[in-house]
Amino acid sequence: MIKSEFAWMNGKLLPFAQATTHVSAFTLHYGLAAFEGIRCYKRNDGRSAVFRLREHVERLIYSAKICDTIIPYAREQIESACLETLRANKLDEAYIRPLAYLGPGALGLGSRESPVELIVIAFPWGAYLGDDAHKRGIRVHISSFTRGHLNNIMSKAKISGQYINSVLAKREVVGMGYDEAIMLDSQGCVAEGTGENIFMVYRGRLYTPPLSMPILDGITRDAVITLAQENGIEVVEQSFTRDMLYAASEVFFTGTACEVTPVREIDKITVGSGEPGPITRKLQAAFTAAVKGGNDSHPEWLAYL
Ligand code: PMP
Repeated sequence: MIKSEFAWMNGKLLPFAQATTHVSAFTLHYGLAAFEGIRCYKRNDGRSAVFRLREHVERLIYSAKICDTIIPYAREQIESACLETLRANKLDEAYIRPLAYLGPGALGLGSRESPVELIVIAFPWGAYLGDDAHKRGIRVHISSFTRGHLNNIMSKAKISGQYINSVLAKREVVGMGYDEAIMLDSQGCVAEGTGENIFMVYRGRLYTPPLSMPILDGITRDAVITLAQENGIEVVEQSFTRDMLYAASEVFFTGTACEVTPVREIDKITVGSGEPGPITRKLQAAFTAAVKGGNDSHPEWLAYL
């Protein structure tokens, strides 16, 4: 159970237990909602900052737009709602979850009667894939579920109903004893994790799938590409196959929840030496320095609390 004191709901902070919706809410039935996952970090200097708040809120707004709905708040208001929710809950380090959903109205699929409601909740959330994940790396399995075709899922949007694909894939591999799943697209190319983008080092070059594939335009992916370039590492945005992944010397996931997480095993095949490799380590350190302090070359990525 998520523990929190206050939730921001349609412009007001409410005691957490009172932030509820009706059983006839459109989104509860059909899954049409846009959401975000954002992290606030306590930095080495003691101050707290939300990482890339603006980009996350912009993506929330365009996710809603892709759903053919409009959130009735401006970007600045949504950013303030996130910060207010953190302050009300006295959180200096947290995961923030804004969600724009359709409330009660008619249930016809084409109905536009339901109001767009916006909520923001925030709560502490440690390492998403386990305490050891960042240090040792995780074990993953390729899912038997395919990432939807580009014209089936709207992959550039974080739409609640689309996450059934990810939830089924995650449950499948966790049930098999793995930490996370890799999703292939309908062509058989490597797409992403259930809630992460993927990178691999193959024959000494760093690859990640291009945005023309059915993957989320991850904000951590973008940050890691920038940090790689700043560290003299070229990133090739090119589709690749499952067998290239098996031959890769390094594989890692990026995402708000998992940050930069090394992968040490795929389908019982050891990645590289089984230890996180040098490029993974370098980018992990650069990312930590950006979010926690140490590399202050990206002040535009930080929204101080
Ligand atoms: N892919 C999917 C499907 C996701 O849900 C996420 C998490 N938002 C990511 C990738 C990583 O995106 P970001 O770095 O913006 O959190």
